[in-house]
Amino acid sequence: MKVVLRNLTKKFPSRDKKNKTDVVAVSNFNFEIPDGKLIGLLGPSGCGKSTTLNLISGLEKPTEGQVFFGEDDVTNLPPEHRGIGLVFQNYALYPHLTVRQNILFPLENLKGKDKLSKEEMLEKTTEAAKLVQIDELMERKPGELSGGQQQRVAIARALVKRPKVLLLDEPLSNLDARLRLQTREEIKRIQKETEITTIFVTHDQEEAMSISDIIVVMKDGTVQQIGRPQEVYDNPANLFVAKFLGTPPVNIFQGQVKDGQLVLGGDAVLPVKGAPDGPVLAGIRPEGFLLRKSGAFRCQLDSVEVMGRDISVVASNKAAMSPMIRAIIGSENLAEVSVDASQVSFDLKPNKVLLFDRETEERLHFNTK
Ligand code: ADP
Ligand code: MG
Repeated sequence: MKVVLRNLTKKFPSRDKKNKTDVVAVSNFNFEIPDGKLIGLLGPSGCGKSTTLNLISGLEKPTEGQVFFGEDDVTNLPPEHRGIGLVFQNYALYPHLTVRQNILFPLENLKGKDKLSKEEMLEKTTEAAKLVQIDELMERKPGELSGGQQQRVAIARALVKRPKVLLLDEPLSNLDARLRLQTREEIKRIQKETEITTIFVTHDQEEAMSISDIIVVMKDGTVQQIGRPQEVYDNPANLFVAKFLGTPPVNIFQGQVKDGQLVLGGDAVLPVKGAPDGPVLAGIRPEGFLLRKSGAFRCQLDSVEVMGRDISVVASNKAAMSPMIRAIIGSENLAEVSVDASQVSFDLKPNKVLLFDRETEERLHFNTK
């Protein structure tokens, strides 16, 4: 099911007694979510992710704008009539019911022509349990399951009515690191198998990047960028997006563009034809550095950490906006740096260097050829 968000806006009355201005949780959100895809809604805490999800589910009413499921305007339709499945961070299972009863529960409320026989309900319950691979544990109570297993039950319960849209709000946040990895792969698999349009909310960029077909990056209620994960990583629209995606994070420098060259700390480090002369912020991805004895960008060498396949070179430079610059380099280049040296030189990969306007923090493009 295609989901269309049109000029979607949600304002909440201020909770602050002194400051009565409304909180704009979501501001003029426009997006046509394609059918059958997994969308990662990503951004820091408080940026409006849950509110957006609640507007799609119908748990919240927009202040302005509309939500369409396919061609149908569902803006005023209550959640129970939208054909959605919901999964939250805190599983929200019924503790006194077994796994089977928990999954079956939504089917018992079906009325009229949708009403199912007991056999049909049990069949659908088993099917959903198999899909999330929890069918061996049907007689257990939630208290007898691990966090990961409980979340699988919650997902099965959300899927049992075959929703048109599956909405997941930080579903992995309560799981430990290993289970988080495993469960996110599971969600990816289930989504591929069922082809249900799925919207997955997370503040964890790596999680969103790894499972989404499309990511939507939000900040302060506003959409910053929408695109395929790699596309957004390679071509961030602004400084916020560039900094939010990637571990280790992009290195940021105060630079100048002069005569078609990017100048960092006095060194002309890269031709940047097409970028306007003047002050810029330059972002260099950790994988954008090439160790070269004769490299144009000279930095102080702080340490070299060998991590198997890659080495991490920690350096500093007066143009850098953080005390440490981190470069990730293939270990075959180890010969280019002597560990006891105090200086290190780099050339830069043009497509890993990002320029931003210092005032607006919007991306400035240049010719990499
Ligand atoms: P996220 O899920 O990205 O952390 P939310 O959508 O929960 O963000 O919140 C977005 C903003 O809206 C925040 O500033 C939050 O404090 C505010 N907000 C959310 N729900 C309410 C509410 N019911 N009343 C007032 N403010 C709210
Ligand atoms: Mg939230």
